[in-house]
Amino acid sequence: MPEEKHLSRRDFLRAAGMVGAGSLLGATGVSAQGASESGGPGQNLKSSSVPLRPFGKTGVSVSCLSLGGIFDIPSNQLVLRQALEWGVAYWDTAYSYGGGKSELGIGQFLSKNPEARKKLFIVSKSEARSPAGITKHLTQSLERLKTDYVDLYFLHDLKEIDPLNREIKTWAEKTKAEGKIKFFGFSTHSNMEDCMLGAAKLGWIDGIMMTYNFRLMQSDKMKSAVDACVKAGIGLTAMKTQGGGSVSMESEAELQMAGRFLNQGFTDKQAKLKAVWENPNIASICSQMPNLTILMSNIATALNQTKLSAEDLRLLDRFAGETASSYCAGCATICESAFAGAPPIREVLRCLMYFHSYGEKDRARELFAGLPAATRKDLLQCDFSTAERMCPQGLAIGKLMREATVLLGNTFS
Ligand code: SF4
Repeated sequence: MPEEKHLSRRDFLRAAGMVGAGSLLGATGVSAQGASESGGPGQNLKSSSVPLRPFGKTGVSVSCLSLGGIFDIPSNQLVLRQALEWGVAYWDTAYSYGGGKSELGIGQFLSKNPEARKKLFIVSKSEARSPAGITKHLTQSLERLKTDYVDLYFLHDLKEIDPLNREIKTWAEKTKAEGKIKFFGFSTHSNMEDCMLGAAKLGWIDGIMMTYNFRLMQSDKMKSAVDACVKAGIGLTAMKTQGGGSVSMESEAELQMAGRFLNQGFTDKQAKLKAVWENPNIASICSQMPNLTILMSNIATALNQTKLSAEDLRLLDRFAGETASSYCAGCATICESAFAGAPPIREVLRCLMYFHSYGEKDRARELFAGLPAATRKDLLQCDFSTAERMCPQGLAIGKLMREATVLLGNTFS
């Protein structure tokens, strides 16, 4: 039975077990008891709510922390309530998340709290690429979410800009006019920079959610892509901000980092969020927060005003360098051009990332099982040596492809 009892802010801190969060809140000058109710997107919130940032040229401001919806939302309604209480009013879901349970869970919350809808900025997504397919998904998403509209609607997991053709532009304009979506854009985990640079030239994309973290933000191409989107008025949401790799790897810098950050009152995970928020062009960070502990930790980080020092950033940079060969940077056009019909190397590495770095083993297996059986079989037979030579991160692609088939399932039916 989902727990729905309302927690006071003091109870919330206690439930989250966040001594560290309490001290971070203290550092902001915000008392847990004196915190205020949150408003909606675009409204002025009091200082105890997660800060707002403008979302591109939409005229809407969103909470700089957004609630990622890949968790058992129907059984964790309290997380939604407490997120909203603290101003985490940007909620991210998708047609496919949890086989529909993510959207159903948000719908369950809105059925019981209809007044919350106007405070929320809800994003959903479709993997479809045809107008008819997208309409079908959106219609079902609205039914599940128990709402008449979503604030932002994404084509999910774009790997290139080509699907954003004239037909899709017409679909987006028509669906906005019908009031079913307010804004339109896409999410991208692969070739993010090319997708962003392409979108900036289109002139009709409102928002993008892309993989972005302390590793990727350093590259000139990512900096150019962010600049181009800002100039085009596109709102940007960062995801995968922990920069977790497809392989576990030890690093001396990581040990130093952990000690240094803890002395300052925050963890290395919190420092990685701060590194992203230091770029004012990132409107929001989408984070999976399946329980109160993680929610509270991230909220405390968003409220904390302490900036990372040059030494902190240098250590993060050193850590990124020392562990580069554990991290897939998403530049799939490079390795997948190594030979005709190359398997989706990036997708397989993303499955391993969920498995190793995010501890989401079921999700990793589910994504892997979604690849065609013939593709999964190819992973054991292909020679990846050319792709390995091309990979700028120096990943041991062949070994990782074989590891994926063992760890994530090697049935080919
Ligand atoms: S395996 Fe290497 S080349 Fe391929 S997407 Fe990852 S980082 Fe880029």
